[in-house]
Amino acid sequence: VEEINNVKPEYVRSFEFDSKLMPFTWVVVRIDGCHFHRFSEIHDFAKPNDDRALNLMNSCAVAVLEEFRQDIVFAYGVSDEYSFILKKSTDLYERRASKIISAIVSFFTSSYVMRWKDFFPQSELNYPPSFDARAVCYPSAEILRDYLSWRQVDCHINNQYNTCFWKLVASGKSKREAQRSLKGAQLQKKIEELAIDYNKLPVMFRQGSSVFWDRVDNVLIHQENGESSENYGKVIVQHIDIIGSAFWLEHPGILRG
Ligand code: ATP
Ligand code: ATP
Ligand code: MG
Ligand code: MG
Ligand code: MG
Ligand code: MG
Ligand code: MG
Repeated sequence: VEEINNVKPEYVRSFEFDSKLMPFTWVVVRIDGCHFHRFSEIHDFAKPNDDRALNLMNSCAVAVLEEFRQDIVFAYGVSDEYSFILKKSTDLYERRASKIISAIVSFFTSSYVMRWKDFFPQSELNYPPSFDARAVCYPSAEILRDYLSWRQVDCHINNQYNTCFWKLVASGKSKREAQRSLKGAQLQKKIEELAIDYNKLPVMFRQGSSVFWDRVDNVLIHQENGESSENYGKVIVQHIDIIGSAFWLEHPGILRG
């Protein structure tokens, strides 16, 4: 007891380092399912795209935006990943990186478990899913848009590849043969060869999911009790092009800061 009383809290604390995210930059927290290749097989996800699984991911992203409504202004998701954009003026946890990352990814993960039954009423969750996460700072809205474009291009290329792959498997090829025939192939050509009507595929599969507040910007609502509060409106999920400028011009509030 004597010795415990001699430990100085300041001394023990001095080993802790807070990495702070650079001020006045956009922060992207990207989460990604751990070993979801296996998770999706064990839980019989439809291939290449299980829409129940995607809708569950989207529902968790909506919950994250509602929970962190002061700070997260936009999210983009595809497959087992989601990117959450914190506005550049955010002071969430004084911008301490590990606090921000862990709070978002654990909230997302527990929502995933809680909502599982709503999207998979017929199948048990066989083991606890987990997600990893990282934070990256982007110094300008332009670079942030480049980041989001990169994720949406990735969605497109992966979806083209996976659609061809599973079409080949459905036609009787082994996974190995399918992989070999797609190696280095021009996906656009392959799609034509395999008679895939790509543009008829659900838009969620082709464009991923964008999540944001559908609100009248910064309008204060005057409630009956005389108090006023910010009108957040409601969080919506859309499957749209975020590479071109049209979306951002229609929603100037998102990248305002
Ligand atoms: P890691 O732990 O390194 O992220 P991973 O197995 O999760 O490994 P990813 O590159 O993240 O690998 O890919 C996720 C995998 O999860 C995809 O390859 C796909 O097989 C599967 N997956 C995720 N979402 C779905 C979905 N909605 N429908 C079908 N399969 C999915
Ligand atoms: P923060 O988000 O900053 O961590 P917090 O409310 O979680 O805020 P902590 O300092 O982490 O604050 O303290 C955790 C609190 O949770 C304790 O003060 C206590 O009230 C409560 N708590 C945690 N575990 C138990 C437990 N097993 N039994 C009763 N209360 C508990
Ligand atoms: Mg990963
Ligand atoms: Mg993964
Ligand atoms: Mg992934
Ligand atoms: Mg505590
Ligand atoms: Mg606590």
